[in-house]
Amino acid sequence: MPDTVEHGLFIDGRWESPPGAARFTTRNPATGELLGSFVSGRAEDAERAVTAAARAFPAWRDTPAPKRGELLLRVAENLKRRKEAIGRVVTKEMGKVIAEGRGDVQEAIDFVEYMAGEGRRLAGETVPSELFRKMCLTVRQPKGVVVCITPWNFPTAIPNWKIAAALVCGNAVVFKPASNTALCAVEVVKAYEEAGVPAGVLNLVTGAGGVVGNALVDDPRVRTISFTGGVETGREVYVRGAKSLKMVHLELGGKNPQIVMDDADLELALEGVLFGAFGTSGQRCTATSRLIVHEKVYDQFLASLLERLATFRVGDPLDEKTDMGPVASADQEKKVLEYIAVARSEGGKLRFGGEKLRGGVFDAGHFIAPTVFETRHGSRISKEEIFGPVLSVLKVRDFEEAVHVANDIEYGLSSSIYTRDVNRAFRAVQELEAGITYVNAPTIGAEVQLPFGGVKNTGNGGREAGSVAIDEFTELKTVFLDFSSHLQKAQIDPR
Ligand code: NDP
Repeated sequence: MPDTVEHGLFIDGRWESPPGAARFTTRNPATGELLGSFVSGRAEDAERAVTAAARAFPAWRDTPAPKRGELLLRVAENLKRRKEAIGRVVTKEMGKVIAEGRGDVQEAIDFVEYMAGEGRRLAGETVPSELFRKMCLTVRQPKGVVVCITPWNFPTAIPNWKIAAALVCGNAVVFKPASNTALCAVEVVKAYEEAGVPAGVLNLVTGAGGVVGNALVDDPRVRTISFTGGVETGREVYVRGAKSLKMVHLELGGKNPQIVMDDADLELALEGVLFGAFGTSGQRCTATSRLIVHEKVYDQFLASLLERLATFRVGDPLDEKTDMGPVASADQEKKVLEYIAVARSEGGKLRFGGEKLRGGVFDAGHFIAPTVFETRHGSRISKEEIFGPVLSVLKVRDFEEAVHVANDIEYGLSSSIYTRDVNRAFRAVQELEAGITYVNAPTIGAEVQLPFGGVKNTGNGGREAGSVAIDEFTELKTVFLDFSSHLQKAQIDPR
């Protein structure tokens, strides 16, 4: 097949295929088309990548940060030039509609450009000393070798969030992408290669999480792991990394609520939930998976939602007119259909969809109808992350109950409220337990210049993106400069 190219690992500035290496392939979830063949990396490949990164690190650390930023500007230019082509690879490999495929790449471009500017900031702070002729300040230093482990749902944006921030801070990176979207990972790495990233500063090791991922997490030379993925995997990575006292940054799941109050602009709220729940077939960590509606507008709002879904177009994600493509893989299809069965068995009232789509183009791919269940708070589908196009609708009496239902789950990534009451809006900002709250906007739509992350089981306290992205990838060094020519003893000298 002309498009099916064999791709190698990228280690120490070279693409390589270890002789006799086992391989895996990726396929288009809409059509089954074979897209590429990739090396199933082994533990020793991961080890070689870390060796290359460790060797490249000192020279990269000593490269002035503005120069490191210039590399990122060239990466951004490469991504811009190839935006359409890479956007199509995103859509083909994981199934999001083409507008979102382009959006994935655009988010990568935005962040890489934003981080390029960080090359001229990387700010520390200067504070007064309590002593005579003494100066106190902090400087940022890179951590060394950093490992970036990424999921398939934003296969160009999330890797760039991590890689660009790590590189501008002066770290050397080993990148382990989701196996499902290995071709997107190759495209990302090529943008850095073509921009002139020095050998060993960025390395790509494809292969199974349980093999390559484990080897990287165990390697004592790695100081930081930046991980985005599922909660169970994240927990495992955290525990493993703790054995060698690594800093492990986790971005995990969500079960994000959109609250619709009785005074909301219902048309706007409807647009919001359609985009939030069914964009990317519900496979965003920030996807709206719970719709919490005030009882006064519940029937009317639900009826309008069902009416709009009746004309929702599911199909070929490369067709500009399609609203929703397939889910990303056979595994995703299985998991989502299992949750639909759970919802039925626990008494959820199916109001739309609830099935695998069949016939015509659907037969070749993993298409699931947009699905709406009326359910009660506490049911499994109202609490567990499904990561698919399944929306739970919950009726509440008032604002207080809406906030209680929104908060009474293990996750806390994104949240949204539609209301025209300014007091309620501010209370929601204060009371919703989530890393992100939107007012009169859906739960999805992050902007790269703002911190991204969540509370509770969504992570372990860190944030990506925004100016705080550099916290993950730098150590603060505290510096004391004494120019008094005397021994001065803080806290002990007479006052
Ligand atoms: P997984 O947790 O299965 O995989 C994520 C990454 O971890 C993949 O690269 C995977 O490799 C790798 N991996 C698997 N096992 C191990 C291991 N033992 N050690 C190290 N790495 C390992 O998640 P998905 O790819 O299925 O992604 C979907 C999840 O990501 C959802 O639950 C979603 O909520 C979450 N997510 C969170 C975001 C956030 O910012 N909070 C953003 C986007 C998604 P391989 O593919 O080879 O298995």
